[in-house]
Amino acid sequence: MDTPKGSDAGFIVKYRQEYYDLSEFMHKHPGGINTLNGLNQADMTARFMKAPPHSDAAMYLMKEYKVKSEDPRIPMTKPRHQARRIDNGQDSQERSNESEDKNNNQLDESMEHLVDWSKAMLPQIANITKCYDEWVHKPVDRPLRLFGPWYLEMLTKTPWWLVPIFWIPVIIRFAWEDIHTSWNDKSQLACVTGYFLFGVLLWTFLEYTLHRWVFHIKLKCNSGPWICTFHFMIHGLHHKVPFDPMRLVFPPLPGAILATLIYYPLSYFLIQPRVVLSGALAGYLCYDMMHYYLHYGNPSFRHIVHMKRYHYQHHFTHQDLGYGISSPLWDVVFKTRIHLRKLKYQLRWS
Ligand SMILES: [Zn+2]
Ligand SMILES: [Zn+2]
Ligand SMILES: [Zn+2]
Repeated sequence: MDTPKGSDAGFIVKYRQEYYDLSEFMHKHPGGINTLNGLNQADMTARFMKAPPHSDAAMYLMKEYKVKSEDPRIPMTKPRHQARRIDNGQDSQERSNESEDKNNNQLDESMEHLVDWSKAMLPQIANITKCYDEWVHKPVDRPLRLFGPWYLEMLTKTPWWLVPIFWIPVIIRFAWEDIHTSWNDKSQLACVTGYFLFGVLLWTFLEYTLHRWVFHIKLKCNSGPWICTFHFMIHGLHHKVPFDPMRLVFPPLPGAILATLIYYPLSYFLIQPRVVLSGALAGYLCYDMMHYYLHYGNPSFRHIVHMKRYHYQHHFTHQDLGYGISSPLWDVVFKTRIHLRKLKYQLRWS
């Protein structure tokens, strides 16, 4: 399939009686960009209904791209001809089939009136604790400001490349001494390598436990303002604005504090704890880079495509499953694995 291209007028589609501009979204579409092929300036209702049903979160996100009916980019003179061609004329049956639509079109009203997106979001979380859990799992695609003062706001944004720049020297530093002293002793070196790999495995377990039991801590309607604000800071915001590239990787400073808190108690039980820490940090670095790539990359390797679809299912469909991001290993162990549909064609994102 070709990659669909927008035009100067955007990538306008019609769904039921509404119009949407998908030009900013098509590269992020969890179902791939190639599935949108031929929909520019067309009615996508029939194809949308034939496609696997979209989750409630996906239907909510779609509202972000709605354009007003008086928008000059809406095509008045050539309604639906492209979609009709693609769907072999089946859009004539569209109205009679609307009852078969498995998508939740009567989706509850937007909850975004509860907060003011033009103001700092963090102080507002305390006002919405009763419905915070529901609100945070309804994704939007809009700029998020966490703090009012610019100097605090600046600290909340992390470009992806800062993470390897910060952590690679730390990883080398912690492993170097043990590697250096065991360099001429093969069995000792094999031991050090084993401890390093153990550290990587330890990370995969930490990735799962942190994501499942800390980042997705169960919130109730009587959860206090502090716990909701904490949740929003550590992971809630990533589910609320999943397409914010500056809020995706873990900022190095809190990361270093968290690593220290986990490392010190563990170091009493481990032999060669510095090498284990180095391996765990290497595992973490791979995880964070992979998480970023899953959101923004256009993978062609089957495993990475699978993990991208897997992670998007966690975001938009099964937020209580699929906690593994770099691998589904611990999801299999703890029975929280998501089973993906087999596709007849490869998805692409660019
Ligand atoms: Zn879709
Ligand atoms: Zn999550
Ligand atoms: Zn994510």
